[in-house]
Amino acid sequence: MKKNAHFADLSPFANLFHEGVPVICYHKVARKPLRAKLRGIYVTPRFFRRQMRELREGGFSTITLDECVALRAPNDGKKIVLTFDDGSVTVLKNAMPAMADAGFSAINYLVADLSGGCNAWDVVNGEVPDRLMDEAQVRDWLAAGNEIGSHTRTHPRLSRISPEQAKEEIFASKKILEDRFGVPIRHFCYPYGDFSPRVRDLVEEAGYVTAVTTEWGVWGGGDPLLVNRIGARAHSLNFRNVFRRLTGRKPAW
Ligand SMILES: [Zn+2]
Repeated sequence: MKKNAHFADLSPFANLFHEGVPVICYHKVARKPLRAKLRGIYVTPRFFRRQMRELREGGFSTITLDECVALRAPNDGKKIVLTFDDGSVTVLKNAMPAMADAGFSAINYLVADLSGGCNAWDVVNGEVPDRLMDEAQVRDWLAAGNEIGSHTRTHPRLSRISPEQAKEEIFASKKILEDRFGVPIRHFCYPYGDFSPRVRDLVEEAGYVTAVTTEWGVWGGGDPLLVNRIGARAHSLNFRNVFRRLTGRKPAW
C-alpha cells in the first residue's frame, strides 16, 4: 500500500487495518462549494454514508481514543476511531445521521474561541467561510453519544508561535471547553498537524491523554500524544476511477 494513501474504499486497506487501529481523519461532510480552495477537506454526504456502510458490513465498530491507546496488539477485533477536525456544522448535519445508522460514534475537535463562528484561520487566506457548531449544536453532538476534544483556541501553527502563546492555546482551550460543556477534555488535535517536541510536552503537561497528528499510519502502540491518522477522501474522478466505480472492476490498462 502506498504511504499517505487516502482511505476511500476498504479493500486496499484491509491488511493495514489489521496491523493496528485506524484513526480516520475527516473535516467537512458536504459537497465542496465551487469557490473552495481546500478540496481535500470535503467529502460528500453520499461518499461518507457509503464508507460508514462499508465499514459496518466489513465488521468494524468504533471505539474511543481512550480505548484505542489501551490496545497494543494487531486489530483482530476490527476497531476503528472516527475523528473530525474543526467542528464544522456539516458534520452534525450530514455525518451524524449516517454514523447513527451504522451504530458508530466519533470525536470532534473544537476551536474553543470560534464556537458558532467560522473557519477564520482559513478565511484570512481566501477560503470559503464554513460555519462551526455553536454551543447548542455541540450539546446535540454530545447527546448523540459522541465526544469532543480541543483543537486550541484559535487554530495557530503551534510550533511557530511563542512557547507562552502555545501554552495558552493548549491549556486555556481545555479549560474553556470543560467549563462550557461540563465534560472532561482529554484529547487534543494539533492544528495543521503541526507540532514540535516542546509543543508535544506542553500537551502532556496540560493533562491531555491523547493527541492526534496528520502523520500517516495506524495505531499499534507508541506515543499516545503523537497518534497517526489516515485521511479519508474520495477517489478523484479520473477515467480509471470512473470505470472502476461503474463496473466494479479494476481497469486493465
Ligand atoms: Zn483544523
